[in-house]
Amino acid sequence: RAKQKGVNQLVYFNTRMVDELRDRSMMLSELKDSLDHQNFTLMYQPQIDLNTLQIVGVEALCRWRNKRNEPISPEVFIPLAEQSGLILALGEWVLHKALEDLHRIRSIKPSVRMAVNVSTLQFNDPDFERVISNALALAGVSGNCLDIEITESVGVLGSVEVEEKLSRLKKLGVMISIDDFGTGFSSLSYLDKLSADQLKIDKSFVSCMNPSNTGSNIADMIVSLGRKFHLTVIAEGIETEAQLNALKAQGCHQGQGYWFSKPLTIDDLLTWLEKT
Ligand code: C2E
Ligand code: MG
Ligand code: MG
Ligand code: MG
Repeated sequence: RAKQKGVNQLVYFNTRMVDELRDRSMMLSELKDSLDHQNFTLMYQPQIDLNTLQIVGVEALCRWRNKRNEPISPEVFIPLAEQSGLILALGEWVLHKALEDLHRIRSIKPSVRMAVNVSTLQFNDPDFERVISNALALAGVSGNCLDIEITESVGVLGSVEVEEKLSRLKKLGVMISIDDFGTGFSSLSYLDKLSADQLKIDKSFVSCMNPSNTGSNIADMIVSLGRKFHLTVIAEGIETEAQLNALKAQGCHQGQGYWFSKPLTIDDLLTWLEKT
């Protein structure tokens, strides 16, 4: 009986898999198409110094609409672009576009830096350093305008291989942030060897901070780790004033989230900058 049930489940699972495969390959061909026609856009979310409340940077976040003009979440199309290798070309487009827009941003606020998400596949591409230095040269901006956001999944942080790559990138002047810090599977033992500049507290650790106490112990712990290892700490997903105040009290340096601003189109960002 159990066996029969197992067989039925297998049949059901297979038809679902066929559907999923079809959807995925359709989405993939639309993604490829969009890349040829540069049908992606970037939104920019301000990153704020929690002490001065001044903007210090913006994070570029990629947006895509399919053929039916439906917005597809980057949580869906980025993994698909990664699995298919398209992320290399997409990631390069993101870098070029973001650095091009940075000129307009800096014409209003000259010190603003650009943070760009880099996927594991991009980071591990042997050409990655050249891609970065070419993008900087093409846009005519110096490396210290750029902040590269990687995650713990790029490899073994703290290992000779990863650290050498990070140091070479840092020679270009770029800053390195560890995105979604604390959600990966790596141990903390790499922190004292890490050639990164910044830890980003994942928004799941910010959203669980409750308004009555000083907040999530994990956010607090990450701020302490940052202090201990001389890393700047930036909290993502700040949605309430209570979260902001708690993070500030803990000594968190920077933050971004709907409380300050949602991700904005370049034009809306420029207007926002003019006003602040
Ligand atoms: P991420 O880099 O951790 O970006 C933070 C996500 O949180 C963004 O989602 C942002 O829109 C969202 N967010 C910001 N503030 C708040 C807030 O106050 N509340 C809530 N609930 N959410 C907030 P988004 O834009 O959907 O991007 C999701 C993920 O997709 C990013 O996570 C990043 O991992 C990836 N991604 C986006 N653009 C790119 C890209 O150009 N390249 C690569 N490789 N990945 C990208
Ligand atoms: Mg990010
Ligand atoms: Mg993140
Ligand atoms: Mg994320």
